[in-house]
Amino acid sequence: MPRIMARAWGFGLAFIAAAVLALALRPELRLAARAAWNDPRLFPAFNDDARIRYEPEARACAEAVARLAPRAIAQIESAHGRPFARPPVVGVYASFENYANANGMDDPGIAAVTRAGAALLSPTLCSKERDRLQGVLTHELSHVHFSSWRPLAAPRPPQWFTEGLAVMASNGGGAEGVSDDKAAQAIRDGYRVVLDGRRWIDFARLGFERELPRDPALDALTQRQRLAYRQAGMFVGWLRRRDETAFLRLLRALEAGEAFEPSFESAFGESAPSLWRCFVAELSQQSRRDAAN
Ligand SMILES: [Zn+2]
Repeated sequence: MPRIMARAWGFGLAFIAAAVLALALRPELRLAARAAWNDPRLFPAFNDDARIRYEPEARACAEAVARLAPRAIAQIESAHGRPFARPPVVGVYASFENYANANGMDDPGIAAVTRAGAALLSPTLCSKERDRLQGVLTHELSHVHFSSWRPLAAPRPPQWFTEGLAVMASNGGGAEGVSDDKAAQAIRDGYRVVLDGRRWIDFARLGFERELPRDPALDALTQRQRLAYRQAGMFVGWLRRRDETAFLRLLRALEAGEAFEPSFESAFGESAPSLWRCFVAELSQQSRRDAAN
């Protein structure tokens, strides 16, 4: 073998060895590699609609998604105040194992995830949790819309905001089973979600000002998640009603890749925590007024 070829081979082998070693040592790299391998864009398109990608065994579910998608897309474009930067991609999975590999968390228990600009739907949304399909699809499309505009290296806004936005824009997708009234009462009673930088996918660690009483009849993590999502969604909706122009200015700034806190203050003239306190105070006054009437 000529020397130059031998050297190229050597580099190639060293590169492969380094990649294998990195994958073996770093679990997050391993998860990312598996997610890329199971990316929905590798699946066939449903009836030539490149937006809907499906595992062949999930054809009936893909059909249901394709029926719901136009309305869900229009709803998100209207709530976010502009079209998608590029057509959204929705991945429909038949296998919980492939879905778990694709979602980058190795977790088949999450109903849906937006990853690398595509919404991935768990098979549960076409079986056990079919009644959540429309809401969860619309919720995920809010994340897809947001990421379609944002530059890759842009700082992430806090998750309470992106989840609250998705819940608001989807009329409660992801917060099923917790009504506005129930969430408002929880806020009055001090069970307020803490709007900080904690990861909202880690439901066990979601912070509440006062620990929620455990309802043995319900799954504790689901309860925490749905209540937190509903409260964040109500707050984001309240911000929007308070000042629509400021709200859209904030969205446009975040989509341009600007940091959350300064963009929020420049749009609303106040910080998010200070407006959250106004929101809480308003809810409490409302209940006093209702009691007086
Ligand atoms: Zn979400």
